[in-house]
Amino acid sequence: MANPSTCWRKFPANNTSPVVAQKPNPATFHLNTLITKPRAYSCKAYSATAAKSPLAATTIPRREPGPSDVQIDIQYCGVCHSDLHFARNEWNFTQYPAVPGHEIIGRVTAIGGAVKKFKVGDTVGVGCLVDSCRTCPDCRAGLEQFCPDMTMTYGSADKHLGGGTLGGYAQGIVVAEEFVLRIPANLNPAATAPLLCAGITTYSPLRHWKVGPGQKVGIVGLGGLGHMGVKFARAFGAQVVLFTTSPGKVADGRRLGAHEVVISTDEAQMTAHAGSLDFILDAVSATHDLNAYLNLLKRDGNLVLVGAPEKPLPVSAFPLIMRRRSFSGSLIGGLPETQEMLDFCGQHNITSDIEMIRMDQINEAYERMLKSDVKYRFVIDMASLK
Ligand code: NAP
Ligand code: ZN
Ligand code: ZN
Repeated sequence: MANPSTCWRKFPANNTSPVVAQKPNPATFHLNTLITKPRAYSCKAYSATAAKSPLAATTIPRREPGPSDVQIDIQYCGVCHSDLHFARNEWNFTQYPAVPGHEIIGRVTAIGGAVKKFKVGDTVGVGCLVDSCRTCPDCRAGLEQFCPDMTMTYGSADKHLGGGTLGGYAQGIVVAEEFVLRIPANLNPAATAPLLCAGITTYSPLRHWKVGPGQKVGIVGLGGLGHMGVKFARAFGAQVVLFTTSPGKVADGRRLGAHEVVISTDEAQMTAHAGSLDFILDAVSATHDLNAYLNLLKRDGNLVLVGAPEKPLPVSAFPLIMRRRSFSGSLIGGLPETQEMLDFCGQHNITSDIEMIRMDQINEAYERMLKSDVKYRFVIDMASLK
């Protein structure tokens, strides 16, 4: 997801860039000429032009690949709730035109001369990050998501072309090799796309706080993130309790791996779990009562927020101080951990449960996401844009 507090730097409102050459021919392209001022080619995409306008077809520039770049023909892009928050300026830092999309799977169509890890034809992934400073303590620790100079896939300043970075609701993208991920061959590519954000955002905190056997773990909200949280918490050996506002998701919650499903609007069901959970992962996209969940933690338990609702969520002192509970947050994951997560999914055959849509169904998909009517991640078939 885009992070307003650390990633945002102002950029000119228009993507005025040294556009527009023809789409490069991988066989003939010479990289040395591109280093100082990259040329660009045009690419079909979907963008929002204002907070209240629907997304619509457009054309955007992409830089021609430099020596360390990988050019990718996008096949699938997952639809994260962050895309909706961003397109509608709910976090107050969107500049338009905005092209969301940071759960990208595609085929390599060209590589720069210095690229070592990938070759033309490989299936690869790109998540929420496309660059960082590579030298700060966070980058050196493989935690590029906390780099003060990171470049998000959309909504950051584009160091190459000017303007803002533009995301994966597009035919193609060009990304530095270090920010491109290998995809296990046994996984369905479309169902793998959501791992690039929903997957790593839930895997990372569960790993960081060492969730595992003997622990009772709550996952709040069965959406894109939440359903991956249920799958990972179960795969890590925890006792998993899903908290949902949707009675229609109970059976799916169990099928996805929850040992128990609680309807969070039912006070009696909530009270039955008071003071009993070691860890809670909260993946809700809208305003809700955090204190009700803090009260479900044991002494020294931890509630980790990954959801990023538009408005602040009030936290009362007493649920925290009475039992030395913690309240924490977590942001996606760095590149090494994202690759680790993908490899783990390859080994354990874990992917997202998806509903495939055409690009021109994106506005309808956003409306359904707002009604919690997603089972459990929309993925855009990018062939529909061509
Ligand atoms: P999503 O697919 O729309 O799922 C959100 C779920 O939250 C819904 O399915 C629903 O689950 C629950 N929910 C929605 N409205 C609610 C309400 N008013 N009260 C209680 N529960 C409600 O969204 P997502 O893509 O998983 O993203 C979830 C949040 O995480 C978003 O805010 C997104 O921006 C953020 N995010 C953060 C990071 C990070 O790095 N921290 C990364 C990606 C996304 P039930 O039907 O089960 O109740
Ligand atoms: Zn996301
Ligand atoms: Zn850095």
